[in-house]
Amino acid sequence: MRYKSIFLIGIMLLMSCIFVQADIAVPETIKIGLKYGSTAVKSVNLKNNNGFRIGTESGKQVAVLDETNIMVEKAQINNEETYLIIEKGGFLDYNSALTYTEENKNDMIYYEDNVFYAAREKIMNHTDANNLLWEIRQTNPSAYMIEPNQKRIRISDQKSGQTKLVFSEQTGENLEIASKNGGTLLIDSVEYRGSVVFIRQDASDMTVISKVSMNEYLYSVTPSEIPAGSGLEALKAQAVCARTYAVQNSGRHASMGFSLCDSQHCQVYKGVSWEKDSTTQAVNETNKQVLTYDGKIITAVYSASCGGRTEDVENVWGSPHPYLKSVEDPYCKDVSWELPLDFSTINQTLLAKGYDFGNLQSLEILERTPTGRVLKIQITGDKMTKVFEREQARTILNLKSQFYDIVPQNTFRILTASGFLYWNLGGREKLDANGITKIEGNAVTVLTVENGEVVPKTLPTVSESFVIKGEGNGHGVGMCQNGAIGLADHGYSYEQILKHYYTGVEITTGK
Ligand SMILES: [Zn+2]
Ligand SMILES: [Zn+2]
Repeated sequence: MRYKSIFLIGIMLLMSCIFVQADIAVPETIKIGLKYGSTAVKSVNLKNNNGFRIGTESGKQVAVLDETNIMVEKAQINNEETYLIIEKGGFLDYNSALTYTEENKNDMIYYEDNVFYAAREKIMNHTDANNLLWEIRQTNPSAYMIEPNQKRIRISDQKSGQTKLVFSEQTGENLEIASKNGGTLLIDSVEYRGSVVFIRQDASDMTVISKVSMNEYLYSVTPSEIPAGSGLEALKAQAVCARTYAVQNSGRHASMGFSLCDSQHCQVYKGVSWEKDSTTQAVNETNKQVLTYDGKIITAVYSASCGGRTEDVENVWGSPHPYLKSVEDPYCKDVSWELPLDFSTINQTLLAKGYDFGNLQSLEILERTPTGRVLKIQITGDKMTKVFEREQARTILNLKSQFYDIVPQNTFRILTASGFLYWNLGGREKLDANGITKIEGNAVTVLTVENGEVVPKTLPTVSESFVIKGEGNGHGVGMCQNGAIGLADHGYSYEQILKHYYTGVEITTGK
């Protein structure tokens, strides 16, 4: 209750929200890697009912194809780059090259740096290419051969297999393909807006990139990050976070030729089928808006559920940010969880992470943050002892959150001065001839009564099985999606929601 009133006063102070216009560039388009690195591909199938516009990223138009199903692939034969025999060059447009190749039965049209060539494609070895060249020169003395190179991309008709064009830009410009009428296209059967860019990185397969407007990207991303049925103001808050994240991280995959990848590593982007009307509206109504602090774009991290109070960022990732401070979360739904664990399961987890503790002896929470999250947990085995801090206090045991307690499960019915109690013996006190002292060591011998007889029994003092009882889901820093949905349901606007979770920020309309 106390927290709630402090919260309401805080919100009232923020009521006079100001939209700031600053020099933050929000790019019109963004490039998202679909296939890259180890997932790069040799070929991609593109479908569109209206045909395709083939061009370069700088906007040069190379060809317009009426085919509705094309294959874009590395221009190789039997996994080798090929020699080309150029029969006629100097065509300045695709159609005149097409007319010539059809009349002269050339294999295909080769495009390189603004010029089209009628070409024959000869496989692999130089001798075969040379022989063909001399044969052709009997009737066409100006024919010449060009060497294989690793930049060429073949575009062919999926149905007939016929090559429509082999594309090469030695200037480093990338091939860009869009649907002829500007609509969506199917990339290997997944529908995407915008266009698709292909890069042949040297010696690797093709990198395939979806190039879309920032808002079109967010249409797909926002509903994959928050349930689309949430209140509109929560969806708008999420849209602003997702846009802020995209802008701030736009250099993340720059070395691979795109801004962000399509996976959890950046933000999940799976094309048109994920879009929902409600989140599309949220994206449109927050057009170009991002979060800034002190005129600079922020790291707009968010998590699913904070468990009632968000966390200071330094208690999770180490270094502080003035806008990532712990705040109360009055409408955070209770997301409590329980995870039974025992030493053998924990040991498997630790071994998988490269830690060999030997026989585990204890798990001990050494320190908590002021919000109650675990800051330091010490794990002790007979081979090593190690303290895991901050986020590692969560991830080392694969827990849902850092907000947890360890409840030992091995309890014993023992007789104390106040009667029988169910206790875990570790760290407890015992009454014996020396008075009341702490139980020490791994085991203790107690007298039990069995079938009317007094029997000494040795019991372990340390529990080997536990229930981890926790709150929340995720790192707990920045916006809590669960709480944001609650705030929206209680009438708060997306500006109020964002300013609640990100201390001292402004909503800035980028250029
Ligand atoms: Zn990524
Ligand atoms: Zn929360």
